[in-house]
Amino acid sequence: MKIAIGSGKGGTGKTTLSIGLALALAKTGVQVQLLDCDVEEPNDHLFLKTIGKISRSVDVFTPEIDADLCTICGECSRFCQFNALAAIPNSEVLIFHEMCHGCGGCKIICPQKAVREIPRQVGMIKTSQAENLDFSYGLLNIGEAMATPVIKALKELADPSKTVIFDAPPGTACSFVETVLDTDYCILVTEPTPFGLFDLKIAVRVVKKINIPFGVVINRSDIGNKSVTNFCKYNDIPILLEIPFDRNVAVAYSKGISIIDTDKKYAGLFLEMLQKLKV
Ligand code: SF4
Ligand code: SF4
Repeated sequence: MKIAIGSGKGGTGKTTLSIGLALALAKTGVQVQLLDCDVEEPNDHLFLKTIGKISRSVDVFTPEIDADLCTICGECSRFCQFNALAAIPNSEVLIFHEMCHGCGGCKIICPQKAVREIPRQVGMIKTSQAENLDFSYGLLNIGEAMATPVIKALKELADPSKTVIFDAPPGTACSFVETVLDTDYCILVTEPTPFGLFDLKIAVRVVKKINIPFGVVINRSDIGNKSVTNFCKYNDIPILLEIPFDRNVAVAYSKGISIIDTDKKYAGLFLEMLQKLKV
């Protein structure tokens, strides 16, 4: 089973739930894999005692232009929908690598066969063993605009024989969609505040659009108001779990200690929550 854990906005407790759920399952003997897809700011590894580490590069293809063959006709720059190429008359073709989506179209369209594709590293994937679970995270290179190639590469590691938990990037942009696509269930973590509700509504629209079954976890459920609860009830969205604010959990989090190592009761709560997932 593939479970994505997302949130409309950061700081709602998504990482806490991802790690807590993965460790709770692993302690029962279930084969678990945790993939931290928040590749712009991965932090799951800070809460895990990892052993060994394998790093691999994530590359995308990007064009290189042979100046001896190029006539600066401009076909490639007109073709490129991402404005990654600019043909400067009587000069050269400028390439903006960070804008390139690696579609290869410029190579196909070039009448002079002046374009060739070269690999360009955009990030890394790091894999290790952590407390009875397989763990990998992606890391986007600083300055790179597109997180999806790293997330795609990370998702290719998903082992179908295991329960795979994807810690999705915060928000609902394309990196969130890329993470949630093809999963069996999406758990949306929110908090009962106007900001939490606002972002939850957007996240709900996105997961409905891509047709992934989903439910909601309300973190710090005893702060704020009832608007998230009412929204879920009105829209027939299952509330899988409500977690009241716990100062001990917050303090432990700041020290890199997982929620289930802070208080054993959470492992039971997370496992009970899993029984409510309808896929
Ligand atoms: S299409 Fe080919 S020949 Fe024309 S500007 Fe681009 S690289 Fe140069
Ligand atoms: S590979 Fe695609 S996105 Fe990249 S420069 Fe060529 S046409 Fe543009």
